[in-house]
Amino acid sequence: ILRVDDLRVAFGARKKWTEVIHGVSFDVNPGETVALVGESGSGKSVTAMSILGLLPPGQARIEGNIIFEGREIPQLSPDEMRRLRGGDIAMIFQEPMTSLNPVMTCGNQIAESLAIHRGLDTRAARAETLRLFDRVRISDAERRFSDYPHNLSGGMRQRIMIAMSLACKPKMLIADEPTTALDVTIQAQILSLVKELQEDEGMAVLFITHDMGVVAEVSDRTVVMRNGDLVETGTTADIFRAPKAGYTRSLLSAVP
Ligand code: ATP
Ligand code: MG
Repeated sequence: ILRVDDLRVAFGARKKWTEVIHGVSFDVNPGETVALVGESGSGKSVTAMSILGLLPPGQARIEGNIIFEGREIPQLSPDEMRRLRGGDIAMIFQEPMTSLNPVMTCGNQIAESLAIHRGLDTRAARAETLRLFDRVRISDAERRFSDYPHNLSGGMRQRIMIAMSLACKPKMLIADEPTTALDVTIQAQILSLVKELQEDEGMAVLFITHDMGVVAEVSDRTVVMRNGDLVETGTTADIFRAPKAGYTRSLLSAVP
């Protein structure tokens, strides 16, 4: 469903560019969860932003290719890219507050998105929002509908974001460290929710994390990155059983 082919990304302007991704290639197959793992600064988020077309064109230079369902992402117009992000590709980030509107209730944000992307009328959008809340195991859905994002805990906000991302029935979810800011118990709940949704909806997931424990928990295959280079890729089982690179072994040694 997604092919990243020799991706190179440089930041800067005019004649002065600093390359931060140095030729990274990997695939995500339909219905599969791929973990993208590496320490801070390895280029995970820049890779995700490149796929999502979210890097500012004047400041970032993308080379290589990114193909989502046969379409070359770098060739799409900003409008087509926006439609793709609100449609076949959904995303969740570490801090959901950055993607939520602080002055609109959680329910209304999702209902609005359902109205825009799926053309539902007010009543149908409300009913579907409550169904999505239920889907992401938000109890007391009626009350949560009228809560503002800042009144919710981080874990609850991430559930709202996941519900929002499901609103467009995406074929692929890109999750950039969605559990990093949460405490361990909530982390586990959100991880099992993502796993469950992935299985039920048959979505492909690109799950970005620096934590090999999380990799083991969620992914079918693993892509290891370091300082903008691809270190190794393989099935998660193989990577844990027999890591080829010393770097991967050092990441694994941190797992309890
Ligand atoms: P973390 O685990 O901390 O989120 P990461 O793997 O997501 O790390 P990236 O955010 O992708 O790392 O950053 C990769 C490199 O690109 C870093 O060296 C970073 O300083 C650089 N970088 C990221 N965004 C920009 C930008 N807008 N302009 C210039 N350099 C950038
Ligand atoms: Mg990052």
